[in-house]
Amino acid sequence: MRILVTGGAGFVGTNLCKRLLADGHSVVALDNLCTGSTRNLAMHHGRQAFEFIQADLCQGVPASGRFDRIYHMASPASPIHYVRLPFATLDVNSIGTRICLDRALADGARTLFASTSEVYGDPQVHPQPESYWGHVSSIGPRSVYDEAKRFGEALVMAYERSRGADIRLVRIFNTYGPWMQPQDGRVIPNFVSQALRRQPLTIFGDGTQTRSFCFVDDLVDGLVRLMESDVRGPCNLGNPNEMSMLELAEIVNRTLDNPAGIVHEPLPKHDPTRRRPDITRATTQLGWSPTVDFEAGFAQTAQWFRSVLLPA
Ligand code: UDP
Repeated sequence: MRILVTGGAGFVGTNLCKRLLADGHSVVALDNLCTGSTRNLAMHHGRQAFEFIQADLCQGVPASGRFDRIYHMASPASPIHYVRLPFATLDVNSIGTRICLDRALADGARTLFASTSEVYGDPQVHPQPESYWGHVSSIGPRSVYDEAKRFGEALVMAYERSRGADIRLVRIFNTYGPWMQPQDGRVIPNFVSQALRRQPLTIFGDGTQTRSFCFVDDLVDGLVRLMESDVRGPCNLGNPNEMSMLELAEIVNRTLDNPAGIVHEPLPKHDPTRRRPDITRATTQLGWSPTVDFEAGFAQTAQWFRSVLLPA
């Protein structure tokens, strides 16, 4: 198939392009590099089936020829990035999503929209099933991301209902792995970068808040399965293995032999207190569940960060 991946130079986009190329597809990656990295593109260098276009999706898709599939992954996704890029975040999930959907309708393509566990906000239901409507501030510091993704969900559902668009909708939970940027600001890049430099790990707040971390290969496998399934409506993808930030810091310092310990810094406003996916839908309808345990995924991830931060 011929496949468009928006955000193809980002963390998940890079890993997704790698998988789609390995599956024998022809891939066009579109990215404006506002948070993506050209370093990520080097691995596809010389592959005839891969094309990179540096462009802003909100101005259109400057690629001719028909696409069979569109994975719409483009968006700032780390809290420090979307707070720094509020309008880019709002635009790419609204205007950008609309541009993807119009192109998909014109081409007769299927679109997968990358939504997020952030649509559940600071959840009052735990773990979070797709049926939960969420607990989200429309005006808080995270709202530019959370509400942009919620609007994106409303848009794809409107295209499905009113225009007969062929839509898949994924809610991605915390993901980690190779090709994450060390300066990305999220907790695993921060902790690993700090541990490799023998600095104390910065725990925001008291560290009792939880997240559930999924290795990127597992996530990408779920994305492809969802795209090729007939599952309609939202589908959570994530690893239910929940841990507190204190537990995560302990694992990172122990595994990377960092004697520097931890320091506490203020908790960002509206930081969700806990997050864990209910993956019943993905398990029963896609036959998907994560296969990489945290120890194995973390070892690969640490190796990646080491190669970027401490090149031989
Ligand atoms: N966090 C932390 N130290 C850091 C970066 C993040 O303790 O250096 C915390 C953050 O406050 C949140 C959790 O780790 O509770 C996950 O943050 P991240 O930015 O990775 O993603 P989020 O799930 O909040 O979007």
